[in-house]
Amino acid sequence: MSTPDLQISTHLIHHPYQPPEGFVAPQPPVHKASTVIFENVAAMRRRQWLDKSSYTYGLHGTPTTFLLEERLSALEGGLQCLLVPSGLAAIATTSLALLRTGDEMLLPDNAYGPNKTLSEGELAHFGVRHQCYDAMDVADLEAKITPKTRLVWLEAPGSVTMEFPDLIAMVRLCRERGVTTVLDNTWGAGLAFNPFDLLADGTHSLGVDATVHALTKYPSGGGDVLRG
Ligand SMILES: *Cc1c(COP(=O)(O)O)cnc(C)c1O
Repeated sequence: MSTPDLQISTHLIHHPYQPPEGFVAPQPPVHKASTVIFENVAAMRRRQWLDKSSYTYGLHGTPTTFLLEERLSALEGGLQCLLVPSGLAAIATTSLALLRTGDEMLLPDNAYGPNKTLSEGELAHFGVRHQCYDAMDVADLEAKITPKTRLVWLEAPGSVTMEFPDLIAMVRLCRERGVTTVLDNTWGAGLAFNPFDLLADGTHSLGVDATVHALTKYPSGGGDVLRG
């Protein structure tokens, strides 16, 4: 999607957004609405929000949120992005979407605290088991993967300790074992490295399966926004 020699900041500003004539600002307007009006019931039924081809309801997306999702995808080199109300909501949505009763999940020992709390509480109640692995020890991660392991969380660097794991080795291992990887990329913010192209050679041959991040932190910048 992005040309490798184009700076990401340039790429983000030159996103194919069409501003209204006479007001060519890079920032799109903020649309605030829950309900949108359809010409008739048939038109309502024809509309699709899952593929972002049209608008159905404010919670499903507005012109503003769809554009922010596209730009976040461009920032991280992802294919699709879903905005939610906070970083923790992004973590919970991901775990709830991917895990079923009987599944096991692995968390780095320096994971963002509330991710651990969610796993010890709600996910345990739903019959999802979790274990923590040593974020700095690929062999420990390997030893803890079982046939029931469905999801491995990663953080780079990890919360509080700021230790940086051997992401390439860990993602490669999980891929060999058929386990889904999700990176909490809050600290990398989509700028420190490309999580979907870890070899940084433009081949996209090694990357995590999904990322989450707290827009609450670096992307919002001012400490006055909650978003994930
Ligand atoms: C803050 C943070 C979150 C959660 O973000 P909220 O928007 O506060 O829910 C998730 N992961 C990491 C690493 C964070 O620092």
